Amino acid sequence: MVGTVESTEWLTPAMVRITFGGPGLQRFAPKEFTDQYVICQFVPEGAPYSPPFGDEANLAAPEHRPRIRRFTVRKWDEADRVLTVDFVVHGSEGYAGRWAQRARPGDLLQMRGPGGGYRPDPEADWYLMAGDESSLPAIAASLEVLPAGRSCEVALVTDDAGHEIALESAADLHVRWVHRNSSAAPETLLLDAVGSVHWHRGRPDVFVHGEAGEVRAVRKHLVAARGIDRNSSSISPYWRRHHDDETWRAVKKDWLAEADRDLDAGV
Ligand SMILES: Cc1cc2nc3c(=O)[nH]c(=O)nc-3n(C[C@H](O)[C@H](O)[C@H](O)COP(=O)(O)OP(=O)(O)OC[C@H]3O[C@@H](n4cnc5c(N)ncnc54)[C@H](O)[C@@H]3O)c2cc1C
Repeated sequence: MVGTVESTEWLTPAMVRITFGGPGLQRFAPKEFTDQYVICQFVPEGAPYSPPFGDEANLAAPEHRPRIRRFTVRKWDEADRVLTVDFVVHGSEGYAGRWAQRARPGDLLQMRGPGGGYRPDPEADWYLMAGDESSLPAIAASLEVLPAGRSCEVALVTDDAGHEIALESAADLHVRWVHRNSSAAPETLLLDAVGSVHWHRGRPDVFVHGEAGEVRAVRKHLVAARGIDRNSSSISPYWRRHHDDETWRAVKKDWLAEADRDLDAGV
């Protein structure tokens, strides 16, 4: 499946919204999940192939093979068959962020999917959603389907107020934005923000995604201090500081197992 860039729009200084259309998306079959994602294949500079590509890409020299990255489907427009993805642009490293920063109408991106696993439970008593810019698209999409009037606590980390985006929901939203640039301890901001949300009565539906270490600390807190059910909550890392996605995927399984052992041991 190949998407053709139709438009680009900077939502914040570090987030660019890209819409994809074209004949390559005719067979895109959306799922019901609000965290549904596509698996994008970015082509390294100098590679001897370009989208649409087949097996030749995986036979190329290692430095030229496609770089796999997951990105949330912020929106799928069934009538016009247009896919919207919000990409974080985070400096001069990596493939996806730099590709998105330079994308122009007509550019092609090869992708597979969608996958996904979360949609807000309409039976929950209230909702807790937390994360950073990388999970903002999934959180924004989830907020849009919440039942009217139900309480939703949201904790989000961004660089500063200029990186916030407007969030819409029929729910009763309480959004807490916290900012790295004005914090002495940016890596514990998410935990502190989640720790200070109002804890409503009844069963919460919890969605927390973002940087691995931050998400791990929040999960530990929510399980140990708030007694949430770790298995029925959607809490997992989307990326890891100081690791590119290849390095992170190589250790992710062991890292998740270790995080579970921490919980079991009450560490
Ligand atoms: C299911 C799923 C859905 C996701 N949805 C989105 C989405 O909708 N939008 C989105 O922007 N991201 C999303 N992500 C995260 C995204 O896949 C990763 O951030 C990815 O590593 C970006 O690839 P890259 O090539 O730009 O950087 P990489 O080559 O992977 O990393 C290069 C360097 O940048 C750092 N880095 C990576 N991501 C970030 C970041 N977000 N902020 C700061 N530094 C970073 C790394 O630690 C590394 O040091 C999602 C991840 C998953 C698993």
